[in-house]
Amino acid sequence: MSQTKRIVSKFGGSSMADATAMHRSAAIVARQKSTVVVVSATYGTTNLLVEAATKSGKGDMALLRPIHDQIVEKHEAIANELGGLDETRKGLKALYDELEGLMEQLVNRSKTTGRSEPASGSDPDRKPYDPSETGGTPERTKILELQDALYGIGERMSSLLFTECLKSIDVSARYFDASIILRTDERFSKATPDFNAIELLSKAHLEPIVTSEERPTIVTQGFIGSTESGKRTTLGRGGSDYSAAIFAWALHADVLEIWTDVGGVATTDPRITPNAKPISELSFQEAAEMATFGAKILHPSTLIPAIWREIPVYVGSSFNPEEGGTWIYRNVGQAPLVRAISIRRKQSLLTITTPEMLHTYGFLYRVFKVFNDHQASVDSITTSEISVAMTVDDVTLQDQELLRDLEKLGQINIEKSYELVSVIGNNINHTAGLATIVFDALSDINVRMIGQGASKHNFCFLVDEGSGEVAVKRLHAALIENGDLDQK
Ligand code: ASP
Ligand code: MG
Repeated sequence: MSQTKRIVSKFGGSSMADATAMHRSAAIVARQKSTVVVVSATYGTTNLLVEAATKSGKGDMALLRPIHDQIVEKHEAIANELGGLDETRKGLKALYDELEGLMEQLVNRSKTTGRSEPASGSDPDRKPYDPSETGGTPERTKILELQDALYGIGERMSSLLFTECLKSIDVSARYFDASIILRTDERFSKATPDFNAIELLSKAHLEPIVTSEERPTIVTQGFIGSTESGKRTTLGRGGSDYSAAIFAWALHADVLEIWTDVGGVATTDPRITPNAKPISELSFQEAAEMATFGAKILHPSTLIPAIWREIPVYVGSSFNPEEGGTWIYRNVGQAPLVRAISIRRKQSLLTITTPEMLHTYGFLYRVFKVFNDHQASVDSITTSEISVAMTVDDVTLQDQELLRDLEKLGQINIEKSYELVSVIGNNINHTAGLATIVFDALSDINVRMIGQGASKHNFCFLVDEGSGEVAVKRLHAALIENGDLDQK
C-alpha cells in the first residue's frame, strides 16, 4: 500500500524562514505523509551562531548579547504566528537558556586562555580540522566542542517549531533528537558519521516509531550528531542534506526529497547565464560529478548514502512544489552527451616533482597517503614521468602539516586563484568531436590543466580566476543551447 512508502523529506533554511514558509513546507509533508522530516535551522540562524562563536574570542559577553536577542526574537516571532504552543514554548525557552550558557562558557574560556582568534569554526572557508591547531590541549578541544553544541541549537529550535506547525494542521508529528542515532567521531565542526552505529541505533530507536500503528511523521534535525560519549557534533556547513541522506539510508527509504528554494538542479548556475535550463532527471554518476564540482544545490557528500542503497532523490522547490524539480536515480530515461556545465571556484594547483618518480613505483601511493592522513581531498589529477599535479580547494593548503609532509616527498609548487570548469554528461570520453567544440569555445582562454578520461561523465579544465564564467557561458551555448553532438 502506498501509505507504507518511506519518504524522507529535507527542508532547508529558506523553507523554514518564517511561519509562512513553514506552513508551505508543512502542506507538502501533509500531502504525502512523509515518514521522516529533516530540517535546517531557520534562514540565517547558523550564520548568527557562527558569528557568536567568532566574537566570543574577544572575551566580552556584551558583544554576544545582541546576537542572542536577535535569535530569540526571530524564533519568538515564528512561535507567536504559529500560535497555541505551550510545550514548544517551554522547549524553546530551554534552548535560549542553553544558548546563553554556551555563549558564556565560550567567552569565559577565551578569557582564561587568552585566545583572541576563534577556533576553527563551521564556516565554508574554514581550514580543515587540524588537531595540532588546538595545540593538542584539552582546553582548545573543549572550545571546539562547545562551538558545535552552539551551532546545533539552530536546528533544535527550528525542528521544535516545525513539529508544532505540523500539529496545527492535524498531521500527527513527533519531535526526535537526531543525535540519538546520528553517531559521529569527534572531529568537531566536520564530524564523520559512524554508519555501523547509526544502522544499529536507527533499528533500536527509529524503526519502532516508523512501524508503530500511529506512524507519526518524525521531525528531526539536520546537521547535528553526537559522539559515543554524548558530545554534540556537527557535520559541516550545509550538512543537513547529508543528514537527510543518512536517515534515508538508515531507514531504507523509498524516496529522499530535498526541498529548497529553487525548482531543482539546472544545466548551469542561472546566475552565470539566464539560458540555464532545469534538468528533470540526472543519474547518480552525473549528480556525483556535479556535486563534486560545485553545483550549489547539493552538499558534496549528500548523495553517497543514497547511492549505496539506490534511493531515488528528488530536488524541488518548497515555494512552488507544482513547478517540478529534478529526479536523481540510477536508471535515467535519457543519457545525453552533455547534461550540465559546472564551476568550482577557489582552486589551487599543487605540483610535486621528484626525479625519484622516474621508473619507480609507490610514489603516488605515498602522495595520496599524505592526503589521506590529513583528511584532505584532491579533485583532479594529472601525472608526468617525474611530477604529479593536483587541484585542491584553496583552503586545503592552509594546512601547514599537510604541506610539510608533502615536502618530504619532493619539491612542491603551489599556484593559486584558479577555477575548475566541468562538462558533465555521458560517454564524454568516447565521443569524437567533443574536444574540438570545447577547445574552439575556449580558444582564447588560458587552460592550465585538463582532466579527462577518469570518468565517462566528466571533462574538466582549470582556468584562471575570472575566466571560469566566460568558459561556462560559451560551453553552455555551444553544447547545451545549440543542440549537442548527440544529434550530429
Ligand atoms: N544549518 C546548517 C548550515 O547553515 C546546515 C544546513 O542548513 O544544511 O550550514
Ligand atoms: Mg543548504
